[in-house]
Amino acid sequence: MMTVMVWLDTNLLFGCIIYVMPFKTIIEPFKIKSVEPIYMSTKGERLRYIRDAHYNPFLLLSTQVIIDLLTDSGTSAMSSEQWAGIMRGDESYAGARSWERLESEIQDLTGYPYVLPTHQGRAAERILYSYLGGKGKYFISNTHFDTTRANIEFSGATAIDIPCREAGDRDSSDPFKGNMDTEMLKQTISIYGASNIAAVILTVTNNSGGGQPVSMANAEAVAEICRKHDVLFIIDCCRIAENAYFIHHKEPGYDRLPYREIAQEMFSLADGCIMSAKKDALVNMGGFLALRDEELAAACTNLLIITEGFVTYGGISGRDMEAIAIGLREVFDAAYLNYRIKSTEYLGDHLKAMGIPVIYPIGGHAVYIDAGALYPHIPAEQYPGQVLVCELYKKG
Ligand SMILES: *Cc1c(COP(=O)(O)O)cnc(C)c1O
Repeated sequence: MMTVMVWLDTNLLFGCIIYVMPFKTIIEPFKIKSVEPIYMSTKGERLRYIRDAHYNPFLLLSTQVIIDLLTDSGTSAMSSEQWAGIMRGDESYAGARSWERLESEIQDLTGYPYVLPTHQGRAAERILYSYLGGKGKYFISNTHFDTTRANIEFSGATAIDIPCREAGDRDSSDPFKGNMDTEMLKQTISIYGASNIAAVILTVTNNSGGGQPVSMANAEAVAEICRKHDVLFIIDCCRIAENAYFIHHKEPGYDRLPYREIAQEMFSLADGCIMSAKKDALVNMGGFLALRDEELAAACTNLLIITEGFVTYGGISGRDMEAIAIGLREVFDAAYLNYRIKSTEYLGDHLKAMGIPVIYPIGGHAVYIDAGALYPHIPAEQYPGQVLVCELYKKG
């Protein structure tokens, strides 16, 4: 009820004048039956907290924060079905029921036969990219996420970003600014030689590129180039459900296909995927690696056992495997995705209308503000993004 009132308030304030979409209020497609109190603070207290944290919001305690927008990672509330799954979790060391459930859910969604459960996305990245990487190897991506790049570079390999040209233009309204530049992909492969390309990684949505979606046509073009040069094609599928929403609504020919089937079609183009379950599996911890090739999966499984755990749980407890399996299905719920994407768009469109430089169109899981453009008087080496976060924190 309270949230609806906030929405109405905001609509009354801004709606008629600057909101270009038809007046339409969206409410959460769920009821809230458990609440966690947040600690309220005064402006004076916040000024002291942020000074004591040396103006580094990462050093604040959660009890000092009213509205926590630090990350989208692992912060979703779980559904009643997921909590029921937590109670059903089977904690057997080998062959747990919960593992069977998770494995078959991931196989059904991705079509990849080999599934390796990890404690979060970067653990899956470390296993696959340290095995494939090393000195003299190259990885190519629309944009490497920071943990992806770190794992690749730690192995001694080189990470090359080739986002599409529209991605560089903040105001371009191209609907798929998360795409990879496929001409650059061909060139990069021919410059370094196909045998030196460890993998091509398509990140959907393109998180570090503003949460912008990737079109099916782009994924198809990337797949074809990889197939032609016999290069491994991996999807970083953290936000594959949100990406499917954008394809359904913005890419011609996809408005009849359900979101989950769009995701399945995209998975069918690649050789494997890496996922942080803290994103579109709607849980607080977990991840996985799924592969098509038996030999590659066997090599990665050896690394999994050494650093994560036995093959039928890896880095995840049984109860969490249940919650991930359920979340992976629930995330494709049409009402949920509509509420999720529209809420982000609503916030972003209003910020844009107020003159705040945002990456446009508004992407999936976040609104990206160009702090350098907002504070042109603050040089990059004095961290305008950090300043903006500190100023927002002081406000509340
Ligand atoms: C979050 C994320 C990761 C890393 O996953 P963790 O669970 O945080 O280790 C990798 N790639 C993308 C695109 C992500 O969003």
